[in-house]
Amino acid sequence: MSPFRPEIDHMSGYRPGEQPQEGGWIKLNTNENPYPASPRVVEALTAAAQGKLNLYPDPLGTEFCLAAAATLGLDPDWILPGNGSDEVLTVLTRSFAGATDQIAYPYPSYILYETLANLQGVRHARLPLEPDWSWNFDTVGKTIEQSKLIFVPNPNSPSGNRWAFDDLLALVPPHGMLVLDEAYGDFADHPHRCELLNSTAGKQIVVTRTLSKSYSLAGIRFGFAIAHPDTIVGLRKVKDSYNCDVLALAAATAAIVDQDWMHQNTARIRQTRHRLAVQLKQRGFTVVDSQTNFVWVTHPSGQHRTIYEDLKAKKILVRHMVFEEVSWAKDHCLDGLRITVGTDAEIDCLLDALNW
Ligand SMILES: *Cc1c(COP(=O)(O)O)cnc(C)c1O
Repeated sequence: MSPFRPEIDHMSGYRPGEQPQEGGWIKLNTNENPYPASPRVVEALTAAAQGKLNLYPDPLGTEFCLAAAATLGLDPDWILPGNGSDEVLTVLTRSFAGATDQIAYPYPSYILYETLANLQGVRHARLPLEPDWSWNFDTVGKTIEQSKLIFVPNPNSPSGNRWAFDDLLALVPPHGMLVLDEAYGDFADHPHRCELLNSTAGKQIVVTRTLSKSYSLAGIRFGFAIAHPDTIVGLRKVKDSYNCDVLALAAATAAIVDQDWMHQNTARIRQTRHRLAVQLKQRGFTVVDSQTNFVWVTHPSGQHRTIYEDLKAKKILVRHMVFEEVSWAKDHCLDGLRITVGTDAEIDCLLDALNW
């Protein structure tokens, strides 16, 4: 007999993208930033490593909260630091989803939300997206009403599109919380500024951000939640006391202070994204307009697995994704390629390799 809870036995577990440990790969599969983090991060890490590693870190990450609040134009008590934004999503799930509650999320979208619901042992429901990645509120209205917690990545992954404020407000469950996962928010042409937290539904909204993508810090685990101070007070009860270590806090604080560095890199990525989309369309691919650091592409031949394998043989990794039970897709199965926007040189290699 398995010693595991039945929920754990019955789930397959979240499968992250491949992380080859040897060099020589062009990695366009997990939406990492191809540019290095701010030099200030390295300085801060060096200083912190020479500091008092024998002591526990500040449980509230006060210095980070002050720095982040200043850049966001908020008070520091609106911020909760986390060990990656995935950890923040776990804390939100544990905080809001009780045994009889339901979690919902768009589909196709970030698969981790379903994993979190399974781990928590609660009901979950998909909010099916239309073929153009828009919402049909006639179809999803009832599920929204019945949910306690709704996760929405905005912009969405794998599609890369972003939804308007009106759509997002319509997603706030009447008796629950809406989490806007803004992992890719900084790559949008006009980034959001937490405007919805000031709306009438503001107390039912939590925004999450990560330093993994726009700040080039996937290797340092750090993300944070932004929400009304009453919400933050509750979330602090749920998180691990010392969820962010001294080094991560030092790196994150330095990174968020250096907004110019982040803006320079996201601007470069937006330019490369545009060029990549144009070139892929010329090669016959269908490309969704992206507000992120990746593009979602399909090819009329449907040979996505073959393309993925051909590229892999040339040491170029992209993400081949398959979503089952998509009513509008051929055989109800949507598959395609999610390609991270790398450096211009990396994208040139990819485009050369795609010249078949
Ligand atoms: C990358 C990603 C995250 C995770 O960010 P971490 O801070 O690295 O845990 C969260 N949500 C979405 C949609 C992502 O793509």
